[in-house]
Amino acid sequence: MIDVLIIGGGNAALCAALMAREAGASVMLLEASPKIWRGGNSQHTRNLRCMHDEPQDVLIDAYPEEEYWQDLLKVTGGLTDEKLARIAIRASSSCRDWMRSHGVHFQPPLSGALHVARTNAFFMGGGKALVNAYFRSAERLGVKVRYNTQVTDIELDQGKFVAAHVAEHEVDGQRFAAERIEARACVLAAGGFESNREWLREAWGQNERGEWPSDNFLIRGTRFNTGILLRRMLDLGADVIGDPTQAHMVAIDARAPLYDGGICTRIDCVSLGVVVNRDGERFYDEGEDFWPKRYAIWGRLVAGQPGQQAYSIIDQQAIGRFMPPVFPGTTANTLQDLARQLKLPQATFVKTVEDYNSACRVGTFDHTALDDCHTQGLTPAKTHWARPLKKPPFYAYPLKPGVTFTYLGLATDETAAVHFNGKASPNLFVAGEMMAGNVLGKGYTAGIGMAIGTAFGRIAGVQAAASVGFGVSSANSESRHATV
Ligand SMILES: Cc1cc2nc3c(=O)[nH]c(=O)nc-3n(C[C@H](O)[C@H](O)[C@H](O)COP(=O)(O)OP(=O)(O)OC[C@H]3O[C@@H](n4cnc5c(N)ncnc54)[C@H](O)[C@@H]3O)c2cc1C
Repeated sequence: MIDVLIIGGGNAALCAALMAREAGASVMLLEASPKIWRGGNSQHTRNLRCMHDEPQDVLIDAYPEEEYWQDLLKVTGGLTDEKLARIAIRASSSCRDWMRSHGVHFQPPLSGALHVARTNAFFMGGGKALVNAYFRSAERLGVKVRYNTQVTDIELDQGKFVAAHVAEHEVDGQRFAAERIEARACVLAAGGFESNREWLREAWGQNERGEWPSDNFLIRGTRFNTGILLRRMLDLGADVIGDPTQAHMVAIDARAPLYDGGICTRIDCVSLGVVVNRDGERFYDEGEDFWPKRYAIWGRLVAGQPGQQAYSIIDQQAIGRFMPPVFPGTTANTLQDLARQLKLPQATFVKTVEDYNSACRVGTFDHTALDDCHTQGLTPAKTHWARPLKKPPFYAYPLKPGVTFTYLGLATDETAAVHFNGKASPNLFVAGEMMAGNVLGKGYTAGIGMAIGTAFGRIAGVQAAASVGFGVSSANSESRHATV
């Protein structure tokens, strides 16, 4: 029988598989997707938020534990488990040598990235290169990897993992028989439920306008994170954490594909201009904080607007100051013409921009600092980077909510164990998006998804191996770090 079964094929699953295998356990990894789509949302990532007390290879200055924690506390509004959060934060300072030992390379951020040279280490070749490196390393170490294997059920005996079930299914015309796969321990790392349209609809419900907001959401990542396993675990009585409507949601280009649009569909000019809804009205402070700390609130903000639609409007002054979107914007030399092309109510839109323009109190514009350019007497205010939009051509980018990942997950502890009625399972563990809600009750700060997945993936792998008698290899001191 296999010692450790890993369910999922993204960063958290791969970290768990590698650690369990390094500890000496036999490991099998089940990935729902075909090989070409392996790697879940992790294949779309770019960076890891890293604590460090002094400059380290690709990271400049310092980003101490306390600052990292305060940043997390701010974005979550306190909806975080400090103990688990600090585990992820501390692990982010020491995991990169281990990552490198499995073929991951880092690079400094490219210009135009989210001002993160100090806080975030970028993966050379992005998340796709990272997961490819991990899969290669796992296979070299003898981890058995199976694709097209969506686990549909978990068999338990009083909170103890017994077997995973795979229903009979078909992929690209090929039939796969139903299976029952036994193992002595298991790590669940099968992502959130963001690609389950019905579940999103159920969670978000119908709004006061009679709309089903989630019908207009786009999914930035993998179509394979359907939450089947998460739902099954909840039905089986696993302890749950988080709110099903909480998710990392970015305002992305409304023209992006329904799934897997990835990073290039993001629209990063929000803080440089104004954002209006389809009624031509502003609805939030576009200059509240640095874009990396705020970009993940804009998906929810747009979700609250009529038709879940908005437009990011800039003028010529902003060009060159943000990563250009993949699709060109709508351009016009007058605000009236822009409104006409966007089919916005012309008078309201022009008044919105003119009111904003006359409320701007321009000091010293500095997009790299919380500058003193702000509005006065305007609701909602724009508190930084407020400059009148008066230099044509004007540009508009249509926005829709883009779900990155959902936060509803399984409650866990520092050993990454799944809990039933507050009691830790002896051999069932959880990592990544399936438990990220323990640390992220709401909000987001760039690069923490991979930090949580790497920390708890590694812990889950070590603990799963240990639960079936495989201790930490004395040759690998990094493994020991993963347990603290
Ligand atoms: C466009 C985009 C950009 C991002 N950029 C960053 C970034 O730069 N930095 C950062 O920290 N975070 C980023 N994130 C978030 C990050 O992707 C996640 O936090 C992280 O990848 C979660 O890892 P995971 O292993 O838990 O999930 P995933 O990587 O999503 O892996 C889940 C895996 O489970 C598999 N699976 C699902 N259901 C089943 C089942 N029933 N049976 C078997 N397998 C199953 C899926 O196929 C997939 O392989 C980004 C996300 C997206 C979508």
